[in-house]
Amino acid sequence: MQLSGITIDSLEFARSGRKMSGSVALAALQRLADSLSDQEGELTWSIRGEMSEGLNGERQACLWIQLSGEVRLVCQRCLAALPFSLAVENCLLLIPSGEPWPEETLEDLLTSSSDPIEALPAQPLLDLVEDEALLALPLAPRHASCGVPEHDDGRAAASPFAQLAQLKKH
Ligand SMILES: [Zn+2]
Repeated sequence: MQLSGITIDSLEFARSGRKMSGSVALAALQRLADSLSDQEGELTWSIRGEMSEGLNGERQACLWIQLSGEVRLVCQRCLAALPFSLAVENCLLLIPSGEPWPEETLEDLLTSSSDPIEALPAQPLLDLVEDEALLALPLAPRHASCGVPEHDDGRAAASPFAQLAQLKKH
């Protein structure tokens, strides 16, 4: 299923337990572009609405979102491509607009696996997927061991296959 242009009524999606899934080209995720060495490939995504039980026994609307795919980041040490397996599973707690944001203690933040987001009547799915993908990327990606080229013309280090081979050795 094509992702761009699709919106959902997120509360309705959760209440009726709907599901959607598909794949999206990395090239469609513009906010990811700065973090990637190239935009070849795609992410597989799925989203599932459900009503879960809150801490106080109240019913809470949430969206389970899953993402997976292989991307190539830029190593912050040698600037070569760094293969990264992106895998996300997150629960987004839907807060109806106008309702108070849940007050989370530090302990909640550390132990909770759900992130509150505002429930929107026309939530673009692409934004949800892109947000989760961005949050899943390491802040300062680095090779475990950078391949240092003899002559630093950039080409030797730029081969993702050489880097992959390097990674597999370790
Ligand atoms: Zn490196």
